[in-house]
Amino acid sequence: MKALGLLGGTFDPVHFGHLRLGIDALEELSLESIRWIPSGAPGHRHSPVASAAHRLEMLRLAIADEPRFHVDAAELESSEPTYTINTFKRLRGELGKEISLVMLIGMDSLLTLHTWREWQKLFDFAHFAVAERPGCTLNEAELDPNLKALYQERHTDSTTLCKTPHGHVVRFNSVPVAVAATDIRSRLAKNQSARYLIPATVLRYIESHALYR
Ligand code: ATP
Repeated sequence: MKALGLLGGTFDPVHFGHLRLGIDALEELSLESIRWIPSGAPGHRHSPVASAAHRLEMLRLAIADEPRFHVDAAELESSEPTYTINTFKRLRGELGKEISLVMLIGMDSLLTLHTWREWQKLFDFAHFAVAERPGCTLNEAELDPNLKALYQERHTDSTTLCKTPHGHVVRFNSVPVAVAATDIRSRLAKNQSARYLIPATVLRYIESHALYR
C-alpha cells in the first residue's frame, strides 16, 4: 500500500525543524512523498503573522529542491478556520480510501492532540507519526487520560503504516532541531540574525518583503 505523508502547520515561517521532520519521515517511514499543507486561519490557535500568500511563497522556496515534497494550498484559499478533521475529509474525498495517510507531527502537537476538533475521529482518516521535538518529552503519566488511553491502544511500529490506511500512532526518529517559528519571528523583530535556522532562500524573501519587523 502506498503511504503519503501530510505535514500541516502555519509555517510562519517554515524552518529547518519542519524540513528535517519531513526528510526524516520520508526515510524512516518509507513514504512516497509528503504534502505540505499550510493552514489558513488555524481554528485552535492565534492567527499567523505573515499573510497566506507570503507563507505559501516561503514554503515553496523552502521545498523547491526536494521532488518528493509538494505543496497543497487548498486551506489557504478557504476563508473558514482550518481544522484537521476537515482537511482529512477533503483528502479522503480526493485520494480515496485505499491509500495510507500519515499525519506528521512534532511531540508538542501530540501532547495537545486532545484539544483538536473531533480528535478521536481523526484516526478514522489517517495515522499519526510523531517525532521528538527538543523541549517536549512524552511522559505518559502526565498525558490527558483520554489521550493516554488512545495512545496506548493505537501505538504500534512503523511497518503498520503501509499495511492499513489509517488508525495508528507511531513514533519515528528525527534529528532534533531546536528551532521554533516563534523564536525566529522574535529574532527578526529584534533585528537579530535568523541565518542557519531557515533556508537562505526563505531568509532573502523575508528580508526583501520586510516581514516580521
Ligand atoms: P510556532 O512557533 O509559530 O508555534 P512552530 O515552529 O511550532 O510554530 P508549526 O507550523 O506550528 O511550527 O508546526 C507545524 C508542525 O511541525 C507541528 O506538528 C510541530 O510539532 C512540528 N514542528 C515544528 N517545529 C519542529 C521542530 N523544531 N522539531 C520537530 N517538529 C517540529
